Amino acid sequence: MYKSFDKQLLQIVKYKLHTLPKTNLPSFRQLLHQYPEIAGNEKETAQKIYSELVKCSPTTIIRNVGGYGVVAVFDTGKKGKTLLFRGDMDALPIQEVNEFDYKSKNKGISHKCGHDGHSTILLGLAQKLMEQPLKRGKTVLLFQPAEEIGQGAKAVINDGKFAKIKPDIAFALHNVPGYPKGQIVYRKGAFNPAVISLIIRFQGLKTHAAEQENGINPDVAIASLILKIKSLINSDLDSPDFCNITTIFTRLGSLDYGTAAGEGELHYTIRCWTQDKLEATKRMILNFTQEICEKQQLKQEIEWLHYFAATANDDNAVDYIEKSAKRLKFDHIQKPTPFKWGEDFGLFTEFMAGAMFGLGAGETTPPLHQPDYDFPDEIIPYGVAMFYDIAEAING
Ligand SMILES: [Zn+2]
Ligand SMILES: [Zn+2]
Repeated sequence: MYKSFDKQLLQIVKYKLHTLPKTNLPSFRQLLHQYPEIAGNEKETAQKIYSELVKCSPTTIIRNVGGYGVVAVFDTGKKGKTLLFRGDMDALPIQEVNEFDYKSKNKGISHKCGHDGHSTILLGLAQKLMEQPLKRGKTVLLFQPAEEIGQGAKAVINDGKFAKIKPDIAFALHNVPGYPKGQIVYRKGAFNPAVISLIIRFQGLKTHAAEQENGINPDVAIASLILKIKSLINSDLDSPDFCNITTIFTRLGSLDYGTAAGEGELHYTIRCWTQDKLEATKRMILNFTQEICEKQQLKQEIEWLHYFAATANDDNAVDYIEKSAKRLKFDHIQKPTPFKWGEDFGLFTEFMAGAMFGLGAGETTPPLHQPDYDFPDEIIPYGVAMFYDIAEAING
């Protein structure tokens, strides 16, 4: 009795929800833009997304996945593939310089990678799945936290709530300034490099500046290492051995003029097209450091951080992207070389077939991570249409 009453009530609620006016996507994107949260702190963002998802009546909504991640499952109840569409939701510790009315209200934090737009596109997909449900299978929408620090994908994959889902294929997009608005940029194989950052810390011995022969100054070790590490760079974008190593920060001693430096540090970011090349480069840096520090009688310590797995696009998944772009008559290009930025979606492609594509954000749009960047709302419909068309091609 109660059960059937509940069912009836649910039907009425669902009917009511269907009759509500749809949330306007650009307004939602601008709302997220106004209240950005950095990686690992996306609590309010997750709440805003959840409140909107409820209106799209998915079969299930799972919260707090791998941190503040939100997962919405649209299950048709009929046999078919389980598709994963992933969007990220974190902002960056960058002060916004834009002056429009929806500018960031959180000091020193802003959406400079367009993850506000990526989350909005996923919400658009949820709206579309409510309006035009697929015929079979499950569509899983993952609003992923903590992408910028390379921890979100890992935390989601390791979360038992997500482990049960077992997607057959995964898709994601990233907006790409420098390309015409709405252009679909795709490529088979490597899409983003494997990226890792590292800190090399040197510990010697401080002395009076007049008696540096009695101390151990890491100056020679740091100078030699900078040159040795530079020799590992391979700038040939067409080579599978491409290896980009960037000096981020260095420090030696302190501003005490009576004291010789006794410690220092070097910070780097490394990008390689393949995992193997990254591992080989790490080994070389480790060997160089050990060798030099032994000679100089320095203690050393290397810390590896912010690791992003390479995104290895699956051929079959890229075929779906290419066909959808053609079917939708969207401008599209095949990119000859991978993008140089890291993306933690790469980790999904280690565990399941998947592909990421670029969505042109405008040729004159400022680059990602720049203080004046802003995700262009005009490209939202392109992202939604691509995701829905791919889903329909597989499970329609
Ligand atoms: Zn970013
Ligand atoms: Zn990003």
